[in-house]
Amino acid sequence: MADIMLNEEERMLRAAVREFAERDVAPHASAIDEAEYFSMDTWKGMARMGLFGLALDPKFGGGGGGIKSVAVVTEEIARVCAATAVTYLVQVALAGYPISTFGNDKQKARWLAPIISGETIGAFCLTEPTSGSDAAAASTIAKKVNGGYSLSGSKTFITNGSVGNTLVVFATTDRKLKHKGFVSLVLDRQMKGITAQKITGKMGIRGSDTATIFFDNVEVPEDHRLGNEGDGFKVAMQTLDHSRIAIAAQAVGIAQGAYEEAVRHAKQRQAFGKAIAEFQAIQFYLADMAMRLEASRLLTYQAATLKDSGQPFVKHASMAKAFASESSVFITDRAVQIFGGYGYIREAKVERFYRDARVTPIYEGTSEIQRLMITRYLLQET
Ligand SMILES: Cc1cc2nc3c(=O)[nH]c(=O)nc-3n(C[C@H](O)[C@H](O)[C@H](O)COP(=O)(O)OP(=O)(O)OC[C@H]3O[C@@H](n4cnc5c(N)ncnc54)[C@H](O)[C@@H]3O)c2cc1C
Repeated sequence: MADIMLNEEERMLRAAVREFAERDVAPHASAIDEAEYFSMDTWKGMARMGLFGLALDPKFGGGGGGIKSVAVVTEEIARVCAATAVTYLVQVALAGYPISTFGNDKQKARWLAPIISGETIGAFCLTEPTSGSDAAAASTIAKKVNGGYSLSGSKTFITNGSVGNTLVVFATTDRKLKHKGFVSLVLDRQMKGITAQKITGKMGIRGSDTATIFFDNVEVPEDHRLGNEGDGFKVAMQTLDHSRIAIAAQAVGIAQGAYEEAVRHAKQRQAFGKAIAEFQAIQFYLADMAMRLEASRLLTYQAATLKDSGQPFVKHASMAKAFASESSVFITDRAVQIFGGYGYIREAKVERFYRDARVTPIYEGTSEIQRLMITRYLLQET
């Protein structure tokens, strides 16, 4: 399991999270998927474990570590429940990270400390009904008013959107300025003019909360802005570069869970008088799955190590995200195939893994966008 890429502390973290995930997360994974239910009990369990502080400012309760630690945790949780894993990584890598990185001490004391303790739930609000990949085309407007902004517009597909209390929102002060007109604002859920509509009927990660959020002339004081005016797009992109590594880890975790199920089933299931694992076709499936799994994990840890050691990492993060997510779709598909008819039934974990994997090449920048980014770097280098 690519152990050579982890130090002693990271191995201990992985062992502790695996125990927690198997004991407290796995037993509910199927039920929260079926009911599309956000589990507050699991949330509190993650908070008690201190998992929300990883890679966030230690001065405000953060536990140190870097994105590699977040990747280790995300992978272990996704191995049993991808929905819980995305709920977790959004808190740490998408809501906590921009406040920890771009916020001042006053803002961190107000919003980061409760995110780290798990007292508040964070969300990252960039995508809009008419702009996803083309994030700079966002039309949510932050109109300048005396002392701050008046925010109007809507954001969609927001993870933790209907349960979240701290919203990191990206808006434009002037659409003509495109990305240069962006601001990044931290909003408290109870501010007047904010409403949310839960999105139901997702294919996978159904136990995670997803919502459309509406802003109707929300009065946002200036001290809710992260960084300077015009910095908003930079805040969004740097946050996504960082959190993409966690999504890659989520994809690895889903694939690992499906792979383990497939190996177990292949050894047990009999056909033509022997275990199906004895058929070369099945063996080749397992070998392909194992190869892609290991390569995905190594790419993910490599990107994380580069980021944590302050080296250029964006190209590697995109490679890890695109490869691990597409491999996750491949591996879960093969797992369903190895299960035969049983893999097509809700009762089989691989059926859930297969549905969960499908979102990973879509969110946090589609595979097509990752390829554009990778190529941009490649062409600069050569
Ligand atoms: C379950 C879920 C949770 C999410 N959580 C969040 C969240 O917490 N916060 C948030 O802000 N967003 C979130 N998203 C949104 C997600 O990041 C977007 O769906 C994603 O970025 C794609 O945007 P889009 O859906 O508008 O697709 P589009 O941008 O419309 O893309 C449609 C297709 O066109 C392709 N395409 C677009 N532009 C190009 C191009 N230049 N070259 C080649 N192909 C292109 C895309 O790759 C894709 O295949 C979530 C989405 C889902 C499904």
